[in-house]
Amino acid sequence: MKYDYLIVGSGLFGSICAHELNKKGFKILVVEKRNHLAGNIYTQENNGIQVHKYGAHIFHTNNKLVWDYINRFAEFNRFTNSPIANYKGKLFNLPFNMNTFYQLWGVKTPDEAYRKIEEQKKVFHIEKPRNLEEQAISLIGKDIYEILIKGYTEKQWGRKATELPPFIINRLPVRFTFDNNYFNDKYQGIPIGGYTQIIVKMLEGIDVKLNTDLFENKQKLLDSAEKVIFTGPIDEFYDYQYGALEYRSLLFENEIINEPNYQGNAVVNYTEYEIPYTRIIEHKHFDYVETEHTVITREYPKDWKIGDEAYYPINDDKNAKLYKKYKELADRETRIHFGGRLAEYKYYDMHHVIDSALKFIDNLKL
Ligand code: FAD
Ligand code: UDP
Repeated sequence: MKYDYLIVGSGLFGSICAHELNKKGFKILVVEKRNHLAGNIYTQENNGIQVHKYGAHIFHTNNKLVWDYINRFAEFNRFTNSPIANYKGKLFNLPFNMNTFYQLWGVKTPDEAYRKIEEQKKVFHIEKPRNLEEQAISLIGKDIYEILIKGYTEKQWGRKATELPPFIINRLPVRFTFDNNYFNDKYQGIPIGGYTQIIVKMLEGIDVKLNTDLFENKQKLLDSAEKVIFTGPIDEFYDYQYGALEYRSLLFENEIINEPNYQGNAVVNYTEYEIPYTRIIEHKHFDYVETEHTVITREYPKDWKIGDEAYYPINDDKNAKLYKKYKELADRETRIHFGGRLAEYKYYDMHHVIDSALKFIDNLKL
């Protein structure tokens, strides 16, 4: 049987495309190499607790269209992410706000905090930040950079902060109010009952094959449909012919603990370099569930090599040039499209992926 579309990957990008194209009457086959749906937003229940199997996923967006879209597939709670940073046993509030400034310097007013940061910035004479270190210092001063950013960043990315692009740190708000909300977005929450149900609903009535890696049967699968949407790594699709793009990988260490409350917060970051994990997630706090036990996950960053899970694209100049070459190949394709975090090689959050997938479908002008 010939399908209209073969969709490679059942993450958010692939599943939105499958859902929208199915609604328009096209016949779809989704292939997924993992043994479950949902890509990196996969959640799995453990006795009442929804465990985020590929790292904490907190939905946030300013885009009402995107928020309304995702709310069609699940009801969201009002979770607000307020991570705690642990540096050498001392606790600080994140993101960088008046609580953090008070904990660090004892300053009590926005004006005092502002002057303290300006005083620290001045010493470095940074006009146009060229890397993450310079960007961080010019945003927030030397103390916060050294205590809350440098160690975390260097273990997360496996390279010196002076060798990383400035934009990575711009994700974090800096505020002169006592507000521990990690995001500035208007809409935020966690789907009650987990993320997997969203993908299950999107793929209702659509043919899906799990444990099916495109590359184990590439030509036959590509020929099974008129058109293809590929959401895996773009460099892998082209057999790494120009070389591999760089990614950062992760190792998730899960532990079930027989106590109801391990750390009192969903996310605790460990910002010193010497502790090998970046954060501990305690999943039950995303859902406010009451259970006798708890599940925690330590997140260890690790080097990536071909064959490992590619979690974070490393969007520096070198990789941007290499991606451009693959993109040129992709642009010449007539029946194969590329989309999502890995195929577009972008540090996308979920809301970016939804926006990108919906625009992609619109642009097909079907
Ligand atoms: P993916 O979810 O990666 O889906 C791609 C799918 O394709 C996968 O299921 C993969 O197995 C499959 N695939 C790949 N190659 C093949 C092949 N050859 N054959 C068959 N199948 C294949 N975003 C937020 O908004 N908030 C957060 O708090 C947040 N936290 C995150 C934490 C971590 C640790 C990570 C890594 C990401 C986080 N994100 C967060 C980002 C979010 O996970 C992504 O934006 C989103 O899930 C990407 O969706 P996608 O469909 O593009 O990719
Ligand atoms: N970061 C940091 N200290 C922290 C949290 C984040 O230095 O306690 C930096 C780090 O470089 C990280 C970036 O900010 O990669 C973005 O953080 P975010 O929490 O958005 O990362 P993600 O959830 O995507 O891993």
